[in-house]
This record gives sequence, C-alpha cells and structure tokens, in this order.
Amino acid sequence: MSYEIIFAALSILLAFIIFLLLRHTKELRIELETIRNRVVTLEYRKRELKQQEQRRLETLFDSMAEGIIILDDADKIQFINNSAVRLFNLQQSARGRTIMEALRMHQIQEIVDKARKEENVLGFEFEPPELHQCILQLNATALKSPGDTKTGVILVFHDLSRIKQLENTRKEFVANVSHELRTPLSLIKGYVETLLSGAKDEPPIAARFLQIIQKHADRLTFLIEDLLTISRLESGPVILNRSPASLHAMTTHVIDDMNSSITDKTFTIENRVPTGLSANIDSDRFEQVLSNLVDNAIKYGQNGVRIVISGHYTNNKFVELEVSDNGPGIPEDALERIFERFYRVDRGRSREQGGTGLGLSIVKHIVQSHGGRVHAQSKLGHGTTFFITVPVDQSPPA
Ligand code: ADP
Repeated sequence: MSYEIIFAALSILLAFIIFLLLRHTKELRIELETIRNRVVTLEYRKRELKQQEQRRLETLFDSMAEGIIILDDADKIQFINNSAVRLFNLQQSARGRTIMEALRMHQIQEIVDKARKEENVLGFEFEPPELHQCILQLNATALKSPGDTKTGVILVFHDLSRIKQLENTRKEFVANVSHELRTPLSLIKGYVETLLSGAKDEPPIAARFLQIIQKHADRLTFLIEDLLTISRLESGPVILNRSPASLHAMTTHVIDDMNSSITDKTFTIENRVPTGLSANIDSDRFEQVLSNLVDNAIKYGQNGVRIVISGHYTNNKFVELEVSDNGPGIPEDALERIFERFYRVDRGRSREQGGTGLGLSIVKHIVQSHGGRVHAQSKLGHGTTFFITVPVDQSPPA
C-alpha cells in the first residue's frame, strides 16, 4: 500500500518536473529565437555599415585629383575612381578586368608585381607612350590584412604633366631673361672698358660710345619695366579697375601721347573709333594695350607709316577694336607665335628698335584678363591689323 502511495507521489512529481521542463524549454526556445534574430539584425547592420563605409571611401576617392585603382589578389580591378577613369580614358566597366587587360601598360604590371614583393613602390615616374605627352608618378602599396595570404594592391597615379610643363616654362623664362639682360650689359661693359682704355680722350669717339651706352641702358630699363608688368599680370588674378570708358577718348589720349613722344620716325595715326563706343574696362591697362600696338606699328613700319584705329560693336555684348598699319607685315607662320614671351620675327630688328619681345604678350594678358581675345591678320609687305574683342558689360547706347 505504502509503495503504491510512494509510486503515485513519484509519478505526480515526475509529471510536474516534466511540465516544468517543457515550460522552460519553450521559454528557452523563444529566447534562442530572439537571440538568433538579434544576431541576424546585427549581421545585417554590420554589412550595412561596411557598405556605408565603402560608399563613403569611394566618394572620397572619387573626389580626389589623383587616379586610384584597387586590385584584388588576381590583379583584377576591384575599384577605380573617376580621376583614373578620365586619366586612362576607361569606363567604370573596367572593374573586374585585370589591370593588364584594362590598361595594356607593361610598366604598371611590373610595378604591381614589385609592390607585392616589396610592399611599397613609391615615386615611380614614367611617360606612357599610350597617353599623349603625359608624365605620371605612380605609388603602389600592397594591401594585406593580418592572417590573410591574399594580397591586393592600391595604385595611386599623380598626373605631373602640368607641373613639369610649368617647370619647363619657368626654366625657359629664366634663361630668356638672363640672355636678354646679358646682351645689353655686356655691350655697356665693352664700351665702358674701351672708353677707359683711351677712347675717352677722343671726344667724337667718346660721344658716340656714350650714346650707344645710353641706348643699351634704355633697353635695360624697358626690359625691366616690361618684366615687372608681366610678373604683376601673371602673379595671380589681375585686379581690374573697371569703369565705363569712351574708347574714342581713350584712343585720342594714346595718339596724343605718341605724337608727343620723341621718335626719329615720321608717322600718322587716325582715330576712327566712333564717339559713342564704350566698354566697361580698366582704362589705364587698355591704354597700355593700344600704346603697345601703336608703338610696334611705328617701330616696325617705314618712315611715314600710317596707322588707323577703328572700332565697332560686334553685337550688344562685345566691342571690337582694330589697329592697322601699312608696315612690313608679319609672316603667316609667325602670326600665332608673336604673342609668346620673347618671340620676335626678326630678333636683330626688334633689338635695334629697342624691343623687349614682351609687348604683345602684355597685350594678350590684359585683353584676356578683361575676358577678351586678341589676334592678328597680316599680309607681308602690306601691313598688319590687330583685332581686340572685349565684352561691353553693358548695353551699347541706342
Ligand atoms: P618687341 O618688343 O620685339 O616688339 P612684341 O611682343 O611687341 O615684341 O612683338 C613681337 C614681334 O612681333 C616683334 O618682334 C615683331 O617681329 C612682330 N610685330 C609686332 N607688331 C608688328 C607690326 N605692327 N608689324 C610688323 N611686325 C610686328
């Protein structure tokens, strides 16, 4: 009897334990489900954050001036930024192709291989024949995560073409200036030495030598003045003192100045600019433009050279001035080059006339800083016409 009671009690206890266990298992299952959901959400969030980070990185890379290409361990392009796409004339579809397939440049493949071996290749400069007149600097770095045997490579390309070009222009400019300064200086030195070694005691010879010295000293002064003007014009944006100016009055002013300057040439200048023609310009700088053009026409023209300055509105937005002469003209192949610094058609003639080779380049700078253009037309033996077009910046008077 007592066994039966004990058995019954044990059965009830067992049933109760099973009931408790079942309830607990259900709770555990719910908890497990919750945890699993949380893990999935976290994983999703982690992936989202990674994608966000990658997008941010890609935006950053795309905003850079340097070309960037990221390769995976099989040399396939994983990422290419906009600058690299432009630099190599590719498309974003280059992703997934190997660097060799996309660029076909052995030098780059060699650098990629070297970067894998040495971790870094810095400052490799080359001039790929596939890209026209382009000088590139390449930095390559191996990308290896800890414990990872696979190695990607990041390539960073700097386009040095413009820097090199500026460097060459600067070198050329310094060489030209030194040459221009050296010539009159050595002449002055030569004549002074000759004077000191006896010529000073012969008054007619001394006077002639002193005149030559004066001429070359003048040339040095002109050259330094022109160099200062050029350097002011080139050292950043030109500050223009614009105001509405009558181009007829400005031309009259320039002609008056020319007529009162001392020159051994005879010339006539005619002002055909209409009285109503005006533009919003920096008058002082524009007078220099006209003076330089008229001065050239007189310098290179024969005795009695005739210069005509005229002008008109080309439409409501632009005004065009023309400075023509009946001088010797400029050969066709030189017309494009006369605006370059120190370019002269006839070097000896320019020097003889006190030219610096900078007059037209100053003209071009001033006109361009007004948002305008200048060009010349000429026929050898029949004269030259310079055309200057600048925005009116205001409607012409009715
Ligand atoms: P330069 O000081 O030598 O005159 P510019 O820059 O003013 O320098 O002119 C460049 C060259 O263009 C001159 O050396 C000259 O050969 C040529 N040139 C300029 N204007 C005229 C012109 N009106 N007629 C003929 N040649 C000209």
